[in-house]
Amino acid sequence: MIKLEKIVRKNILDLKPYSSARDEFSGKDGVFLDANENPFGYLNRYPDPNQKKLKRKLANLKEVGVENIFVGNGSDEVIDLAFRIFCNPTIDKVLSFEPSYGMYEVSAAINNIELIKVPLNNNFQIDLNKIELFLKDENFKLIFICSPNNPTGNLILQRDIEYILNHFNGIVIIDEAYIDFAQSDSMIKLIKDYNNLIISQTFSKAWALAGARVGTAYSNKEIIGFFNKVKPPYNVSEINQEAAIEALNDTKTFNQTLGTLINEKKRMLKELQKLELVKKIYPSDANFLLLEVENGNSLYDELVNNKIIIRNRGKQLNNCLRITIGSPKENDELLRVLNDIK
Ligand code: PMP
Repeated sequence: MIKLEKIVRKNILDLKPYSSARDEFSGKDGVFLDANENPFGYLNRYPDPNQKKLKRKLANLKEVGVENIFVGNGSDEVIDLAFRIFCNPTIDKVLSFEPSYGMYEVSAAINNIELIKVPLNNNFQIDLNKIELFLKDENFKLIFICSPNNPTGNLILQRDIEYILNHFNGIVIIDEAYIDFAQSDSMIKLIKDYNNLIISQTFSKAWALAGARVGTAYSNKEIIGFFNKVKPPYNVSEINQEAAIEALNDTKTFNQTLGTLINEKKRMLKELQKLELVKKIYPSDANFLLLEVENGNSLYDELVNNKIIIRNRGKQLNNCLRITIGSPKENDELLRVLNDIK
């Protein structure tokens, strides 16, 4: 058990959060002259700052309490708020792995926090020997573990994550942006066992709502309390809350599109393997494939010339390209162009 008051920044512990008009009175009926809103129009009222309706639905789906849920403006907001809650600028440090999602580093830089990137091993798993020293260092406040990892697509072994949770006196954030595509379950169930665990997820991927900007974090109620204390009062718009609720109500569409994408991933794997220019395709538990090709930069340029935009990850992994699984039609188009290039 870690002592949260030792890890949270003192100014955040002492912070008196903004109390919004909708915090003080949240009923629906009445004459609302409290928030300097415009009485006319369609989106004239501030949204629910606590996203209660959305949280009740999520609580049901994820089998946690509403007090275990934070809703943010995309899961990128979860990452940024974690820095602001736990890390003293210029003093504290955070750990992440390489290659992994780029925003950990950008958020660290914005918050003036040093981020140490430890290389993953050849199977893109964590080398526990390489992080042992950091686990004991009190200046390290956060460890970001992306699982399934972006851009490699693999899940990180639960055994290694639990080792870190047991041996680290700071906060472990498991970024599960792609977990709905994975064979394994989310690690949300572990928030009961570890009081230093935060799981972040998003509506941007399997829920098909990247344009809406809705991300979530799951943790114990004390940690969620700090996120709520620090967030801007109305961080998720009414439209975005509604879009997320509508998506959650329509599980049929969710399951159908998820099924299509998983089948398309299998098909793409089979088809891409046939191409001579593809040297290796890494196993993926996400909605993308990481490919090693003969000449990554020129293939990337040729695809762009054909109006097919993929992600060149050559700077992180030599000659590697990351391809998102698109609709059957989009995937066909990619295969057509690749077959022409070969
Ligand atoms: N985590 C990972 C691993 C991602 O790949 C992304 C987006 N590409 C995010 C978080 C951010 O997602 P969002 O802010 O859209 O929820």
